[in-house]
This record gives sequence, C-alpha cells and structure tokens, in this order.
Amino acid sequence: MASSPCTGGLAGETRWVEDLDGARGLVARAGSVVALTGAGISTDSGIPDFRGPQGVWTRNPEAERLSDISHYLADPEIRRRSWASRLDAPAWTAEPNPGHRALAQLEQAGRLDWLLTQNIDGLHQLAGNSPERVVELHGTMRDCICMDCGDRRPMPDVLDRVRAGEADPSCEICGGILKSATVSFGQQLDPENLHAAELAVRAADLLLTVGTSLGVYPVAALVPIAVRLGADLVFVNSEPTPFDDLAAHVIRGNISDVLPALVPA
Ligand code: NAD
Ligand code: ZN
Repeated sequence: MASSPCTGGLAGETRWVEDLDGARGLVARAGSVVALTGAGISTDSGIPDFRGPQGVWTRNPEAERLSDISHYLADPEIRRRSWASRLDAPAWTAEPNPGHRALAQLEQAGRLDWLLTQNIDGLHQLAGNSPERVVELHGTMRDCICMDCGDRRPMPDVLDRVRAGEADPSCEICGGILKSATVSFGQQLDPENLHAAELAVRAADLLLTVGTSLGVYPVAALVPIAVRLGADLVFVNSEPTPFDDLAAHVIRGNISDVLPALVPA
C-alpha cells in the first residue's frame, strides 16, 4: 500500500496518524529492521542539511560544485577554506536529538539490526547506537586521512595545528594532502562499507529511511534493492523523495516528533 504525502490540514493530519500507526506496526513486527539515515535527522541538532529548504547547497549552489575532490586536491585556497570551516563545524558542539535517541532506544530494545547512515557527524554513536552496528557510508568528519599514504588520525589533533597557524596542514609522515575521512563527490565509497550495507538491506524485513532526500548514489540504490527482496519501506522525511511510491508508509512530519512515536513502548 503506497500512501500519499501529508499535505497539512485535517485530511493531511489524518493521513499522518494512519501512516504512523501502520509504520509502528511494521516496526514492532518485522524480523529485521534496518534504518538508513541522512542529514535531516541532524537538523534539529543544529547541523544544516544540504538539499532541504534551508540546506547549505540550496542556499549556495556554488558550495556543491566546490565539494568535488578534484577541486580540493588542485586548489590550496579551497583547502584553506575547508580547514577554516572544519574548525567551525556545528557538529563539534552538537548534541543528539530525540530522533537520534529513538534509534538508539530501538537498538537497545533489540529491534534495530543495522543503522546505515550517510551522515558524517557521529551523532548516532553519541546517542548510544553501538559503533559496530553503525555503517558510516560517507565516512566521518571525526577522523582525518592523508590522501597519499592513508595515515589516519583523530581530526581534533589536526585542527589543533590549524588553530596554531597552519592554514593547510600536510601529512606529518609523507607531506601529502590531508582531508577529513569523508567521501567527497568524485571519491569512491569504502567497498567494505557498501557491501555491509547491501547485506544488511538484503536481510531486512523493514527499511526505515529517515531524513534523506535519496538523491545521492550509490546509497539511494539500496532502496530498490530492499524492495526487490520483499522488504517493506517506511520513509520519514519532510519533503518527497523519488521513491515515495514504493513505500508502505510515508510520514511527512518532523523527525524529532515522529521517531520517538515509532519506537515500541
Ligand atoms: P539531504 O540534504 O539531501 O536531504 C535531507 C532531507 O531531510 C531533505 O529532504 C529535508 O527536507 C529533510 N529534513 C531535514 N530536516 C528534517 C526534519 N527535522 N524532519 C524531517 N525531515 C527533515 O541529505 P542526504 O540525503 O543525507 O544527502 C546529503 C549528503 O550530505 C550526504 O551524503 C551526507 O553525507 C552529507 N551531509 C551530512 C550531514 C551530517 O552529517 N549531519 C549534514 C549535511 C550533509
Ligand atoms: Zn601521508
């Protein structure tokens, strides 16, 4: 059963509640629940998304173009700007919100097998989800990696060097270019992470996507894989996604309100 989006007003409100009830039933009954989260789950923690109405790229399309790895590697000025914005990233002071906490509770209740995330902010782990059940498909901003020798270390250590005056710090081992351990446009996802995500989705009875516009591949391709193998889909997102017609329930509410209501008492 595909549901129509909530459009507000009384009819919309009724639909929302019906979908919430249906989704709650699926979460309670499914043998294996897998969640796929995106930037929308962290907006209530003060971290803007990219493509929502107030998104970083919606407001500044040039920022999307500059996020390609080729610009980062070729242009020291872009790297200097990237380091300055890493220093100020809202995620360093952000706290998990009720949406993150609901997914942690779902795992603690034994109802969440895997948490696949496109987010790089680490808030799921801070909320209490086990790191071994979280697959960070787009990497993490909490680590820094050398683009030449692969040396990996905690990002705060490198940010200390930026604060001390190195505008574009280089690798202390090989002199190579350093970058956050995140996947930029033009970079491949870690094949092991992608494989783990595919296995999780293949085994899922329910795929719960939260706060993602499902516009970034190959992650978005996990959705039709789940459907093909018979999983139910529940989407929680304030805007439509290209896959809404495939979903058993689409809940257009705010994630911080909806997710706590989906977790079995
Ligand atoms: P996106 O920006 O493309 O989509 C986010 C979606 O969430 C939008 O459709 C928006 O309408 C919805 N949304 C935002 N706040 C919401 C709320 N409170 N309740 C309900 N819906 C809400 O995000 P994406 O699909 O994750 O793709 C963006 C890419 O950017 C990802 O690859 C991710 O790595 C990266 N990113 C990560 C972060 C983070 O780690 N927090 C932040 C920005 C971007
Ligand atoms: Zn190096």
